[in-house]
Amino acid sequence: MKDKFGREIDYLRVSVTDKCNLRCIYCMDEKDNSFLKNDEKLTDDEIYRIVKESSKLGIKKVRITGGEPLVRPDLVNLVSKINSIPGIEEIYLTTNGILLADMIDELAVNGLKGVNISLDSLNEERFNKLTRLGKLNKVLEAIDKAIALGIKVKLNTVIVNDINKDEIIDFVNLTKEKEIDVRFIELMPIGIAINYKGATNEDVLKVISENYSDYEEVVRSKSGGPASYIKLKNAKGKIGFISAISNCFCEECNRIRLTPEGFLKQCLHFDYGIDLKSKLRTGITDEELRKLIYDNIYDKPEKHLFLEKSDHKELKFMNQIGG
Ligand code: SAM
Ligand code: SF4
Repeated sequence: MKDKFGREIDYLRVSVTDKCNLRCIYCMDEKDNSFLKNDEKLTDDEIYRIVKESSKLGIKKVRITGGEPLVRPDLVNLVSKINSIPGIEEIYLTTNGILLADMIDELAVNGLKGVNISLDSLNEERFNKLTRLGKLNKVLEAIDKAIALGIKVKLNTVIVNDINKDEIIDFVNLTKEKEIDVRFIELMPIGIAINYKGATNEDVLKVISENYSDYEEVVRSKSGGPASYIKLKNAKGKIGFISAISNCFCEECNRIRLTPEGFLKQCLHFDYGIDLKSKLRTGITDEELRKLIYDNIYDKPEKHLFLEKSDHKELKFMNQIGG
């Protein structure tokens, strides 16, 4: 369906938990985190109902995210249920990759089409500093296993000045060696990230240009999402740039978000949404649920207000909203 600005909304991001097995420095506090209790989170059946009614309104693509989605018990079962919904054509996952190698076979069988793996360092010590808890070799194993299974892999990489800026070229070189796209994501000033300074995509491109002159721009497809891409000559994968700040992609935004506690959010940046969980738990019909989702999609704001003053700025951390 179209929203009131004529944008076709066909993509739902479902955050299935706020818990995580890592503590990335720009996403979560090291110790001081409070998590939702189990009964505060949507159940598998509730998520299924919301996705089913959304699919009737034109949602075709679902991305499962978190927190870390793979720490939710029985995620494979949820993916399988979503995969059974007529109209849902593609299911993707965004993960830190730590648990992925052990689950990817089952996820693939149950309809997973592609995976975005977040990875900010290829150096073990650095990786530990950025994630506070991670095991780099588990992530690298997951990347290779996904490629071997024919699952589309994209890496999401955030460059934080003073920490991993010297690894830009190492990440770029991965696209020469492996069938993966590497996407540089600008750090958004959300939650704890306001304490860090991220490299802009312009900074990243400058470093790439100083090292390579033989890259070409990749023409953007209309449904290609918010990234713009370049490709090194003879490389297997592309290099992408995602920037909510320096290059607002709101005009082409095609997505809505469901938080783990059941808020349907129109935009990452705003703190409001409709509380679908409490409606579901007071016995709403499918038609009523669909109407609520319809109204929320229709009313999606024109653009985010990251750089402007607003009373409705999202103050939660990324693991709570769903990245
Ligand atoms: N745990 C999963 C993961 O790390 O892929 C999924 C959730 S995580 C919040 C999703 C993505 O959001 C990660 O790629 C992470 O790097 C990114 N992220 C977290 N905080 C961010 C911020 N302030 N600005 C930009 N990206 C951020
Ligand atoms: Fe966890 Fe992902 Fe946030 Fe890192 S970015 S702390 S992996 S939710």
